[in-house]
Amino acid sequence: CEKIVIMDIPVCNVTMREAIGQIQQFTKGDKVHLVFTPNPEIIMTARENERLSSILNKADLVVPDGIGVVIASKFLRGNTLKERVAGYDMVQNTMKEAVSNGYKYYFLGSKPGIANKAAEEMRKLYPGIQIVGTHDGYFKPEESERIIEAINASGANILLVALGAPKQEIWIEENKDKLTHIRVAIGVGGSLDVMAG
Ligand code: UDP
Repeated sequence: CEKIVIMDIPVCNVTMREAIGQIQQFTKGDKVHLVFTPNPEIIMTARENERLSSILNKADLVVPDGIGVVIASKFLRGNTLKERVAGYDMVQNTMKEAVSNGYKYYFLGSKPGIANKAAEEMRKLYPGIQIVGTHDGYFKPEESERIIEAINASGANILLVALGAPKQEIWIEENKDKLTHIRVAIGVGGSLDVMAG
């Protein structure tokens, strides 16, 4: 994507439509793609967090969540971001097209019970949607291995990771090579809580 550097962090200059088109392309590929949706707070954190900054720099798609990111871009003459692409809305938009695109989701994160409730609510909202597994976000580092096996066995191709920033970004980066069937891993912050209602 065409990148615009906001506070030292490159963000893709994409519209919502372009972002969900990218995700669709990613699912047709043969490797995992990393998608992040930093808000201004995360961008500020990344400036002081080498690890997070490096992860965002290497990601396949980084969308400007939060109007503050778009406004910040307006101060960079000639480099205004096209629009805000909120992570929550972007994920909802993929769900609208999930059945026809063969998307299979795995929800990882939030407090026990929330990912499951989010899955139930999404099944009501998007009939036929395949949410093939869930796991809460309060696990020990040594449990990651077992969770990854479950993700791989589920047949999911889209993984939503809601562990908060920068925990979710680091978890995705550390485990990306073990996610054999996932084609898109998205850091979604508090989105599962919102979906659960
Ligand atoms: N979360 C989690 N495991 C953790 C820490 C947080 O699953 O170890 C979940 C938390 O329950 C919430 C989500 O991460 O659903 C996002 O948390 P927060 O709102 O703090 O992060 P942000 O949206 O600011 O990235």
